[in-house]
Amino acid sequence: MDKAAVSQGRASEGAAGGRDALVFGRTPIETARIRSIETRIVDLPLRRLQQFARFGTHLQSIVLVEILTEDGVTGIGEAVTPCGPWWSGDSVEAIKATIDRYLAPLLVGENLLAPTRLMAKLDQKVRNNSFAKAGIEMALLDGAGKILDVPLHILFGGKMRDSLPVAWPLATGDVAQEIDEAEEMLALGRAGAFKLKMAALPIAEDLARAKRLARALEGRAKLRVDPNEGWEEATAVRAIAELREAGVEMVEQPVARWNLDAMARLTRSSGTTIMIDEGVLSVHDTVEVVKRAAASLLSLKIMKSGGLRNARAMADIANAGGIPVYMGTFLESSIGTAANMHLAASLPALPLGGETIGPMLIGEDICVAPADYHDHALWLPEGPGLGIEIDREKLARFQRK
Ligand SMILES: [Mg+2]
Repeated sequence: MDKAAVSQGRASEGAAGGRDALVFGRTPIETARIRSIETRIVDLPLRRLQQFARFGTHLQSIVLVEILTEDGVTGIGEAVTPCGPWWSGDSVEAIKATIDRYLAPLLVGENLLAPTRLMAKLDQKVRNNSFAKAGIEMALLDGAGKILDVPLHILFGGKMRDSLPVAWPLATGDVAQEIDEAEEMLALGRAGAFKLKMAALPIAEDLARAKRLARALEGRAKLRVDPNEGWEEATAVRAIAELREAGVEMVEQPVARWNLDAMARLTRSSGTTIMIDEGVLSVHDTVEVVKRAAASLLSLKIMKSGGLRNARAMADIANAGGIPVYMGTFLESSIGTAANMHLAASLPALPLGGETIGPMLIGEDICVAPADYHDHALWLPEGPGLGIEIDREKLARFQRK
């Protein structure tokens, strides 16, 4: 085996120790044995304030996960929360501690080319912690893609598309600024639809803001809204009727995550697309959403489901129940965004595209080539695994000391 070639993420060619030997011979376990797992917290500045219903921030922190094999391959993954623990309780500090103390020791010495078995082992020993597990699974799959010299989407059946139309989040609460921001993103060709974060303001003011935006964008770009569970059902009924009238095409998670009955009533009666996000975290949740018809669109996120394989399973269950899916985001850097894009590329249908815009909102990236956005879409990276490479100088600059 050519160690130099492997360290660059490529299996070596040729008769002796070539790719055939790597895949079919005795070598997979030998070459893909996990030597170590390293984690780092990286603090990346956002371009502007991101205001969620209950939290605002200028900073996005990620956990970089690097899995090294005995033969010098490095699988890269990212665990990330939406700018803090408000969404699921997960924080980057807790994710790093859980990986270092509990998850990584279970994987050292194991064969990286068995992600399903390895993730089952982690699930058996450590309950929940889907974000930490998702970061590890991403690194395993990146490493597997590099060893096999195939892009990650091949491991999910190959690609259906090369790009994903993306929606840009408007989330400062200042509507004049939000209209300017939308105009700029449209003009730059970075995003062709917009998602307004709601419920941080009083409802009357918030609805006036949404209507003003809808008018400003009318006929040129679609507007969707996300109150992040911020409304009671009665408020949601009134608000959704007004929003639909104003031309808003989709409302995401209007009510509390546990309230699937209200979600089902809103889905049945509101006459607009209702997307579930916080209310569907797992394959089991997805079965329940399908049984109760508790949404007409389902947001996939690699972190909440504990990895790409679970997210793909959720998509398949939802689709089988007649519910299409959407590619959500937790504001990943270019690492997690590449993973999102490989998954999105493999999915049969994404009627409203997605919102995987993290690298555009994050002012600095730690990848040599940041994610590619043009023509209002995110484009699939090339190369084995995720198709990304870490810029070590930038990593040193933003790594938490
Ligand atoms: Mg959401």
